[in-house]
Order: sequence, then C-alpha cells, then structure tokens
Amino acid sequence: MKQKIEKALENVFIIENKKNIIESGIVKKIDVFKDEIRIYISLYNPTMHIKKKLEKDIYKSIKYQNIDTKKIRIKIEIQLEDKDTERKIPGIKNIIAVASGKGGVGKSTISTNISVSLMKMGFHVGLLDADIYGPSIPLMFNLEEEKVHSCIIKKNKGLYGMNPITSYGVKILSLGFFSKYGEAIVWRGPMATKALRQLIHETNWGLLDFLIVDLPPGTGDIHLSILQEISLKGIVIVSTPQKIALSDVHRSVGMFRIPSIKVPILGIIENMSFLLTKEKETKKKYYLFGKNGVKNFANEMNIFFLGEIPLLQEIREYSDLGIPVVLKNDQIKKIFEKITKNIIEKLS
Ligand code: ADP
Repeated sequence: MKQKIEKALENVFIIENKKNIIESGIVKKIDVFKDEIRIYISLYNPTMHIKKKLEKDIYKSIKYQNIDTKKIRIKIEIQLEDKDTERKIPGIKNIIAVASGKGGVGKSTISTNISVSLMKMGFHVGLLDADIYGPSIPLMFNLEEEKVHSCIIKKNKGLYGMNPITSYGVKILSLGFFSKYGEAIVWRGPMATKALRQLIHETNWGLLDFLIVDLPPGTGDIHLSILQEISLKGIVIVSTPQKIALSDVHRSVGMFRIPSIKVPILGIIENMSFLLTKEKETKKKYYLFGKNGVKNFANEMNIFFLGEIPLLQEIREYSDLGIPVVLKNDQIKKIFEKITKNIIEKLS
C-alpha cells in the first residue's frame, strides 16, 4: 500500500517545481493504517492556494491508483518548514514590515517617513512597497513613470534583474512600478506572490541596514507569503484610534501571533491621534477619533506603544507633493525620530 501511495505522489507537483513532491523531499512521512493513511508534508511556503491545490492533486492521484478513498481515509498534514537561513537575504541586516488593519490609516506615509528618518540617522535603507491594492510609495517619493521604466530592468547574461530606484537617499521598489498610473492591479494571489518574490530576491538591493516592507492592509495571502518567505526582524503596526480601525488590527495581530508564523511585533504607532490646526497661536488638540484608543489597545494586547502622530494638514500636503514631510517640518521630524529610535531599541 505504501508503495502505491508513493507512486501516486510521484505524479504530484508544486507550481514551478520541476521535481515531483517525492523527489523534492517535501513528503516527510507516510503512515499506513488499516483504515487510514496519513501523509506528512513540509512546505516552505504554505499559502492557502498552494495548500488547497496540493491536497486536491494528492486526492486525485491517489484515486487514480485505484485506492478506495471511501474505505480508507486519507489525511494530509501540511507543516511549515523552518528554513531560517534560506529566508535571510544576503546583504540586508534588518527587514521590518509595516502593517495595518485597514487602508487609509497612514501606513505608507509612516513607512516613507520612517525610511527617511533612518537614512538621516546614517543608515542604508531600502523600501519595498508590497501594497498590491494601492501602491502609493512612488507618489510619495515623487517617482515619475518614465524614470521608473528606464531603470527598472537590468539585463545581465540573459537574466533579468531589478535595480531599486533611489529617491531622497532611500532605495525604492514598488509593485506600482509594474502598472500604469491609474490602472488597477488585478493580480490574483499567486501572481502577486510571484511578483513579490522577484522584487525581494531578484533585486540588487546592495548592502542595507534596513529594508522596510510596506504591506497591504489587512490579512491575506501576500502577508502569509512575505511572513514565510523572508526572515523578518519584526512588524510595526499602524492604526488610527477609533474602534473601527482597531477591530481590524486585532485580526492582524492574531495573524502575526499564529504559532507557525510568529513574527515579533515591535510595536504599534497611533496615527492621526489628534488634529493640530495651522494657526500657531492655538495649541489646542482636537481628538477627532477619540483619545488614547491605540494606547489602550496596546496595553490590552501587550504590544509596545511606539508613539503618536498628529493629524496635520502639512503631512497630507507634502505627501501629495511627493516630499517626505520629515524633510520639511521640524516638529514632525522630531516625532518620527523618536518613533524610529523606539523601533531600533525594540530590535536590540
Ligand atoms: P495607507 O497606506 O494606510 O493606505 P496613506 O499613508 O496612503 O495610508 O495615507 C492616506 C492619506 O492620509 C494620504 O493622503 C496621507 O497624506 C494622509 N495622511 C496620513 N497620515 C496623516 C496625518 N497624520 N495627517 C494628515 N494626513 C495624513
């Protein structure tokens, strides 16, 4: 019976893998009992769609070997393979992902200004915009389309590689570089994951102290593949203070704390904590979205509170102009410096 199962598994392949699952060594064990067969598989990148396809293919192939799956139960156990060394990217010291529960809470604005603050502190910094739903880093760094298309692809002995584009001293690569302005990116999970894998592994990042990864909002396949494919030093979460935003953050925290993922949460940043008006004479703070929402959440969830950023017209204005606000506004620069230092401290 075991041989029959092995034969069946020899006809099962993982996408892009030329070897069948027996040859590639991912089938760790096959246990044959009277009325049950257990197959243990170890996967480096167990995203939902890969898992599902694998299970389907295995069942199909086993049936094809004339094994009566009505009489014999087939149990497939898929585990995450921990290959930490393989997940490290040579030359990059620290990879930090910035996440949020919802879109529009300022995740990209914060990724941008943390990257520039790190650069200003003397570090070599890269920023990978992995937000498939709304890649806004090119706009925030004032990277026009032509410039991007002329230097993104580098031909090297018939192989295509990628060079990040440097803006304000930060090396940048974005999923947005591969779509026209205003065009929707309608990639399905596997396609986006493949594109991201290339952006991470086939890019000449050079030597970096920090690679900041701007994740899409929420939880999904992209998150899973990033979390499992690269060795992250930690996650920084961004949220606004109101309940609606925090309920989604709760879900994200749940994902980062799944035992098979378990990536350290370095802390949480509260954005748009209070409104500061332009009139300098009034220093009054208006708590539009409620006071201390993120601080209280951080306490409850045992997450470090990294700092708060006011809602300020200038932040939006400079963002629209494609200039990181920390280069223009001293007060905001200091706030970001403090948050960035907190992140560095948490790393050590
Ligand atoms: P996300 O990446 O979470 O979708 P963005 O960083 O794109 O959010 O921010 C959404 C919008 O809010 C942008 O126009 C940005 O300029 C603005 N914004 C973000 N943070 C602030 C802030 N603290 N004060 C004013 N505007 C902000």
